[in-house]
Amino acid sequence: MANGNRDLNIRRVIEMEERVAKCKRCDALLHCVRRPSMGKGELDPDVLMVFECESAFTRDLSNLVELRNLVKKDFKVENVYHNYMVRCQPKACAIRSSISSFNDTGCVVRDNNCLLSGKTCEGIPVKPSNDEILACLPFLLEEIEIFRPHHVLLFGERVAFFTLRSYGIFDNVVIGEKHILSGMNFLIATAEEEFDTNQCQELHRISF
Ligand code: SF4
Repeated sequence: MANGNRDLNIRRVIEMEERVAKCKRCDALLHCVRRPSMGKGELDPDVLMVFECESAFTRDLSNLVELRNLVKKDFKVENVYHNYMVRCQPKACAIRSSISSFNDTGCVVRDNNCLLSGKTCEGIPVKPSNDEILACLPFLLEEIEIFRPHHVLLFGERVAFFTLRSYGIFDNVVIGEKHILSGMNFLIATAEEEFDTNQCQELHRISF
């Protein structure tokens, strides 16, 4: 256990997630998001995995399970948690953008159905803007400080860029590098879909 206080972690994470669920900082994202993505895993993590936002890869549960098992095996740990730098997945939507008088009401309801089309949401996931990342980043930083894991695994250059700058590191982002910040190992990985056992073992090797 990273900080020896799992119960306190649970309380603090639940309280933070309640704030995330009510967050309306990014107006444009909320139309097509029923609720923000929430972190998952053991609440006393040795390794915290951070993805940029939800993707086709992370929405496939088998990919996540495989990735978690890979990290557990190569880092020789039991407790792994994952979360997203941006919690509301941005989407490009032809239907919504064609309705000029669209109001502020969210249009994705239960079961991923769209109120406008009456069908399953056909929005295309896109990358978040820098402004959206900056709006959501405080939740990630708060979560890192709650868990204080041994290792923070940053998936992709953008995740590393924004997270490391928040800790005052302005170096170029280099995949495979380690930064020790606030007593934690911040390890820079490729994007999750390119991550493999070779890279995982190498990151584990440099983490000591
Ligand atoms: S992306 Fe983050 S900051 Fe923006 S509305 Fe969602 S939870 Fe709030």
